[in-house]
Amino acid sequence: MENWLFIGGFASLDLVNTKRDRWSATPRETLTTPASITRWADAQGFGPHAFCAGDRELEEVRQFREALYALVMSPKGPARSVDIDLINQHACSLPGALLQKAPREQGGVVTRPAVGSVSNLLTVLAHEFIWMVGEYGTGKVKECEHERCGLVFVDASRGMKRRWCSMRRCGNRAKVQRHAQKGQPAQIQE
Ligand SMILES: [Zn+2]
Repeated sequence: MENWLFIGGFASLDLVNTKRDRWSATPRETLTTPASITRWADAQGFGPHAFCAGDRELEEVRQFREALYALVMSPKGPARSVDIDLINQHACSLPGALLQKAPREQGGVVTRPAVGSVSNLLTVLAHEFIWMVGEYGTGKVKECEHERCGLVFVDASRGMKRRWCSMRRCGNRAKVQRHAQKGQPAQIQE
C-alpha cells in the first residue's frame, strides 16, 4: 500500500506530497501505475471511481503535480509561465459537482466533485489550487522543517507557527532526536 498522507490541507498539496523524500537525491514516486491514480483519488475522498487511465494520464498527473510543486516552492521571483499555463489550462474546463445522499446531521444531501475521469480530477484540483492561492497566497505553503521529510502543507495557524507536517510524524521524530542529543529517552506521543 502506498501509505499516502493527507496533511496538506488541500487536495492539490496532498497530490504534491505523493512524491516523497523530495529532499533526497532519489525521491520516491508513489503514483507508480495508472491504477494508483484511482486509489489516490478514492483515498482523497473523490471516489469511488474507476478512472480510465493509462500511461499517458499517469504522466499528465505527474506533470501537473510538478507544476504545482514549482508554483508553491519556487525560489523567490516570478513563477514560470509554463507552470502557470499548465494549471490554467486544466482550470479552463468547468468542474462539475454531483449530489450525494448524506446523514441527516449533514442536511441529508451534500455535493462532491464529479471527477469521473483523470482530466476532470485535474480540473477540480486546478480550481481548488487557484482558490487556495487566492485565499492564502503561496507564502503560507510551507515545507516540513524536518530535513528528511519534504512534505508540504498550508499553515493557516495564527502567527504561522506550524513547523511539522504532523506532530505524530516529524514532530515526534524531532523530539526523539533532541532527546537523543541530550542523552535522555524521549516520551513518544501517540
Ligand atoms: Zn514532516
